[in-house]
Amino acid sequence: MAKLPVEIIDLHEARSVALGRAVEEANKVQNEIDFTYLGADFVEAMRLNVFTNIHTGTFFDTLVSRKREWRGFHPFIICFVDRFLYSDRLSNLFGSRRSEAGVGLVTTYGVEDLIIPKGKMAAYFIYELASHALAFIVSGREHHAESRGCIFDLKAADKRAILSSMRAGAPCDECRKWFLANGKDLSSQQLVAINALLHKSSLLIEEGADLELDAEPKSSKSVSKFQEDEAIPKGYRAGNDLEAAANRGAVREDPSVEPSKARKVWREKLDFLLVERASAADAAVKFRLDREIEEAREVLKGIRDEQS
Ligand SMILES: [Zn+2]
Repeated sequence: MAKLPVEIIDLHEARSVALGRAVEEANKVQNEIDFTYLGADFVEAMRLNVFTNIHTGTFFDTLVSRKREWRGFHPFIICFVDRFLYSDRLSNLFGSRRSEAGVGLVTTYGVEDLIIPKGKMAAYFIYELASHALAFIVSGREHHAESRGCIFDLKAADKRAILSSMRAGAPCDECRKWFLANGKDLSSQQLVAINALLHKSSLLIEEGADLELDAEPKSSKSVSKFQEDEAIPKGYRAGNDLEAAANRGAVREDPSVEPSKARKVWREKLDFLLVERASAADAAVKFRLDREIEEAREVLKGIRDEQS
């Protein structure tokens, strides 16, 4: 059977070495999915859409229309960025996808060192490649609010939930049952390939990382990160995990206050930056964060002035 082509557009400011390693490893551990990079033309075409804060829906609208214009066969594309991601419902996302359209987006913003230990980014990338590939093959699986150490965890309660999900190296029983029942397009070889990828990711995250992973998080405050699939219906009612996150203001759904979208996003970004700043050790990182915090405060002040 022909390999499933999944193409990658690296939109990091500087091309990610860890992503290159991940793609290489991902192709080595299985034979069903062919991960390849799209060239400079595609990178340039999409780079115009890389803003400081990226609205995933808007980004996908553009990517889907570009995909139609591009010559050749591009059924599945995953873009990687180093920017803050938000959607109409959630913010500070790890990634998002529009499974049926075959497009995905993953960020490394606020991930390395803060959530994924330094030097372990290849594990994160392989995990994301596997999750997106699986969702492309069988679209429609919704994330569950409960954390079960599964790739379909919404990862809302704790930013580090992704680590247990990565370590587990497989979907939870309920998700596996769902894929068996609904995955008519998923061959058993493809499922084996997905499992091989998740297993590789779990090996990489564990490898010599005992000390780092078992240590207390650097900051006592959790920065919530979400994985979202646009296939989840808008009225989706979340469980305790998501509500806990909502209480900290991490979820963009609060009917009692209705500030402008921009103001809310920027306030969340500022909160996020402040947490990151508190745990930053490196001087260059601190400097960058200070500038970003200052910028966020100024933007917020501008928005307030505009509205008053
Ligand atoms: Zn699951």
